[in-house]
Amino acid sequence: MTAPALRLRGVSKHYGPVRAVHAVDLEVGTGEIYALLGLNGAGKTTLMRMVLGMVRPGAGSIAVLGRGPRDRSTRAQVGYLVAAAAAYPELTVRENLEVARRLRRVRTSAAVPDAVELFGLGEYADRRARDLSQGNRQRLALARAMLHRPALLVLDEPVNGLDPAGVAEVRALLGDLAREHGTTVLLSSHLLGEVARLATRIGVLHRGRLLEEFPARDLPERVRHHLELTTRDDDRAVAVLAAAGFPAHRRAGAVVLTGERAARRPDDVATALVRGGVAPTGLTVVREDLEGYFLRLVRPPAGQVPAPGPQERARDR
Ligand code: ATP
Repeated sequence: MTAPALRLRGVSKHYGPVRAVHAVDLEVGTGEIYALLGLNGAGKTTLMRMVLGMVRPGAGSIAVLGRGPRDRSTRAQVGYLVAAAAAYPELTVRENLEVARRLRRVRTSAAVPDAVELFGLGEYADRRARDLSQGNRQRLALARAMLHRPALLVLDEPVNGLDPAGVAEVRALLGDLAREHGTTVLLSSHLLGEVARLATRIGVLHRGRLLEEFPARDLPERVRHHLELTTRDDDRAVAVLAAAGFPAHRRAGAVVLTGERAARRPDDVATALVRGGVAPTGLTVVREDLEGYFLRLVRPPAGQVPAPGPQERARDR
């Protein structure tokens, strides 16, 4: 088995009393597109900065492409986009890329026109960065991050400000890089719908802890479904359903059944209603939206102990 492109063991970082990242174990295989998903303040940026060697972990170890994150040869093989997509505002798109090429010591001068073409920036190549739209500024930032074809790309909120077509382009691009060049990608986002489209694996970071990890393709099985129906007598329908073993309640002009069994067997529900003399006039299986799923994950139901917060004192460890 080849060594993972990225390996974190027990990584923590505190800023004074604030626990930004806590005891994170993480492995990302070569060619994977791994998305860190978390609300604002979850610790995504801190974790990425540690991977990039910009911030020292308070505890734990990090191996990037088998070496330390601050190792010079590691840095040459890593590309990144963190914080606001900063370009030199007075320089044109082409000039910005040229600066990046020299800084990265990329010898082939074709790298700049290649990047312009790859990122669809041809029309804007001679426009100053400050005059670009937010989406095109983000494209330029991605082009700079990828100019030297790094083995590992670390992208903090890479599709911020892009329209759906832009998101689709970035996805295609990351997919190509992973497939054709074996590039490994670590990215972050606070939108599950977005990471579901971009990533191959998702890690949920909440209050500095990695709560769960799962392959992006498993997402459909993880979201819940419920059944909504309309009838001519909702109170009676609720009583009939309860007697048939399908707990239901009324909500906004509909009868709602939250049990997975009801969502899986809408035909049984309809049969029970017909037998009870209140045939449904409408019946829909409703799929939880992705953001709903994410919020359910990070906000445990009342009564359960929530994950410790970043504001908790470091000495609570
Ligand atoms: P966002 O999506 O808002 O960027 P994030 O998931 O990237 O959030 P971080 O920026 O890593 O989260 O922040 C995690 C926690 O650490 C927050 O409570 C934040 O206020 C705190 N923090 C981050 N950097 C510093 C710093 N340099 N000094 C003090 N506290 C910090």
